[in-house]
Amino acid sequence: MAGELTFTPVIGIEIHIRLKTATKIFCGCSTNTDAAPNTNICPVCMGLPGSLPRLNIAVVQKGMLAGMALHCTPRQKSLFYRKSYFYPDLPKGHQITQSDLPIMAEGYIEVHDSEGKLKKIRVNHLHVEEDVGSLRHSAADGRLEGAATSFVDYNRSGMPLAEIVSEPDMASAQEAVEYAMTLQRRVRYAGASEADLDRGMMRFDANVSLKCSDGRWGNRVEVKNMNSFHALEKAIEYEIKRQKKILLQNGEVLRETRHWNDARGVTTASRAKEFYRKFIVEPDLPPLMIPQEWIDKVAAQMPEMPDEKAARYVKDWNIPPEVADVLTDDRALAEYFEACVAAGAAPVRAANWVRTEVLRILNERQITIGDFPIRPEVLAELVKRVDERRLSTTQGKEVFDHMVEKNCALDEAVKALGITEGGIGGDALAGTVQAILQANPDVVEEIKSGKDTKGKKMKFLQGLVMKETKGQARPQEVAEALAKALG
Ligand code: ADP
Ligand code: ZN
Ligand code: MG
Repeated sequence: MAGELTFTPVIGIEIHIRLKTATKIFCGCSTNTDAAPNTNICPVCMGLPGSLPRLNIAVVQKGMLAGMALHCTPRQKSLFYRKSYFYPDLPKGHQITQSDLPIMAEGYIEVHDSEGKLKKIRVNHLHVEEDVGSLRHSAADGRLEGAATSFVDYNRSGMPLAEIVSEPDMASAQEAVEYAMTLQRRVRYAGASEADLDRGMMRFDANVSLKCSDGRWGNRVEVKNMNSFHALEKAIEYEIKRQKKILLQNGEVLRETRHWNDARGVTTASRAKEFYRKFIVEPDLPPLMIPQEWIDKVAAQMPEMPDEKAARYVKDWNIPPEVADVLTDDRALAEYFEACVAAGAAPVRAANWVRTEVLRILNERQITIGDFPIRPEVLAELVKRVDERRLSTTQGKEVFDHMVEKNCALDEAVKALGITEGGIGGDALAGTVQAILQANPDVVEEIKSGKDTKGKKMKFLQGLVMKETKGQARPQEVAEALAKALG
């Protein structure tokens, strides 16, 4: 046998995100997800005969923002199609989606390859579509077969989705996860989607095939049903291993759809064949025409993206790149930091406070920056006082913790902790030194008679002064004040 066979994974991903709008895509029903089952429904999203869809313009706007965040280009003309199939979660028998001429064309997302170099993953397109209802089965594992009863909740039916389809440009599970995480961060920045995995607002399908060094290229397998980054990573890794084994035995990888079983950590062939594949143009919706002025208006709403923000922090404020990445991971956190700087805090110092102290509290309390109790102007004031040495770094952190704990004002915290700003020096320190000397005449005598050769007694007095001032005097100044008082 000539050399060992090597395999290169070829991976493409389809991601669904829920677009952030108040109402559904083709009717006025609320998109609130906390509602009781089957309360946010109407004839349109139920697909009752005779009902007509009307496109929600906010969905178009959010879809465009999501696409622009992925460097896609808006199309002035796009079309809606019917994807017909029968399933209890789809009462009208077809899903309205886009096929040819989707709203946003060709973009890209940058990820790091195995050598740490930046690589562009092409986005084929983004299209908007409606979600379907959700099924709940009474079997504990959610199986349809064997369940005594199945329930359908149509609240989700007609929820606005964007589907983002990548080109098969990824070569590892790690690249796929970074692609998905970057996509999430960017659509969140754009305000297009909350993309919250735990709330089903972001879902992944991965297409995986293997290229073999002997020239063979296995069929691609579509893996469905991943709803966490961890599941996406594990499912791709599992599929790579499974396909490799087949190809090593000269077998054929079947072109099929498989389901990720998160509990068992395996993919399984899904028996359900896909019957739909038949798209017809939606006769109840005209082509979507977007005038250039409207495109320009939406483009103007695009906020600064995380990588642009990070680059600006580095360039304008000398913030280390890795710190800039942490600060810009979440838009609200980045805005908090920027508000601190706008309120007068030195950028590098403010960055350190936010990165260490603020993030520590967010982690400890499992809260987001929106629920953080210290306002950015107040943190800026604290940072300034530490910078001006009115507070020592240790005192600053005590004040910070106290404010978080008690949810109180800065001056209140300083007072409650018994801190004298600027430390104790000058006359106050001289007075304390005098009092300590008077209370310890024997020690003073020993020092004056030259017996304190090792300076131990002197250290002892310094300690007493520090204790008396509750650590608020600077050691250097205490030593000087003592030396002066002792002549
Ligand atoms: P379909 O018609 O099955 O939806 P698409 O062309 O829309 O096929 O591609 C679906 C997904 O499959 C895309 O994300 C694409 O990148 C990916 N894909 C296409 N070819 C391959 C391949 N050979 N290996 C892995 N993924 C692929
Ligand atoms: Zn409705
Ligand atoms: Mg497709």
